[in-house]
Amino acid sequence: MESWDLIIIGAGPAGLTAGLYGVRSGLKTLVIEEKIPGGAAADAPLIENYPGFPSVSGQELVAKMVEHCEKFKVPIKQFEKVVGMKLTGEKKLIQTEQGEYEASAVIIASGCNRRELNVPGESEFRGKGVSYCAVCDGAFFKGKSVLVVGGGNSAAISAIYLSNIASEVKLAHRRERLRAEEAYVRELLERKVEILWNTEVKEIRGDTRVRSVLLFNNKTGETKEVKIDGIFVQVGEVPNSQPAREAGVAVDAGGFIIVDSRQRTNIPGVYAAGDVTATPVKQVGVAVGQGIIAAMEAFGHIKKPYYYPG
Ligand code: NAP
Repeated sequence: MESWDLIIIGAGPAGLTAGLYGVRSGLKTLVIEEKIPGGAAADAPLIENYPGFPSVSGQELVAKMVEHCEKFKVPIKQFEKVVGMKLTGEKKLIQTEQGEYEASAVIIASGCNRRELNVPGESEFRGKGVSYCAVCDGAFFKGKSVLVVGGGNSAAISAIYLSNIASEVKLAHRRERLRAEEAYVRELLERKVEILWNTEVKEIRGDTRVRSVLLFNNKTGETKEVKIDGIFVQVGEVPNSQPAREAGVAVDAGGFIIVDSRQRTNIPGVYAAGDVTATPVKQVGVAVGQGIIAAMEAFGHIKKPYYYPG
């Protein structure tokens, strides 16, 4: 079994930052990532609120973070899925599909997955017109008509991004107000994205690929079929907290990990950072800050420097 001071689960902005701070503090640090480094931030078409980068794609920003980690030789094991953890002892045990590891401290930075709509046709047409990532799939819809679903920042940014590619972009939101930031709402209107208020997607229809959606207006009670070529589902996130939960880490009603202001979970030596935590503000900047705090707390827990409050 490999033995480390600090193991970080997840290589999004929170995990990469924690890795950097762990290594630079002299901790024997390992980052384990199920896919490739970057996390959900890599799918963001446009980031305009990370200080120092007035306008940058998520991919570009995380590529710089990965490069930064490489410069300081942060070990990152990618394509390695965590399947189990034992966290309550002095030594924390992490089991992946490939092997077993132990560490004195663990930071869970495993992020979130996209929430699905759970309507008929969604899984049938996934990859045939149903997408969860505008950056990944937008190019397939050049000159076509697309519908984005959701009312948050992700939906707004995806619609803005797609308006540069598709001939027609509609945004369907189940309420009559968006929760997206004002700057994005203004841009949506400037770009003439048609917003379908009080609108719920009831079904996705097609043959070999998506051809239309069945939309229900929850104010008027009207249902109508609208022709589209693609649908981008952006209705929020579900946390990747299952192995942590099963190991006794406390989560809130939505499954997000509960942390205090020092990123400590309910288990000593176990920290969490980024979108997997119950923070209501899910931003790259917040994830980076939480990653720093978590790594510094892990350092204090392991090395017990004179200034560590315990
Ligand atoms: P979100 O802010 O949680 O918004 C999800 C949206 O989907 C809400 O408008 C919600 O409607 C709607 N929704 C949820 N379930 C639905 C369903 N079953 N059917 C139809 N609509 C549904 O999620 P997000 O936009 O993915 O963003 C996640 C987090 O990341 C947020 O904290 C967000 O601020 C952050 N983020 C930040 C940036 C940025 O600042 N650049 C970019 C992307 C994401 P209701 O409003 O009715 O609940």
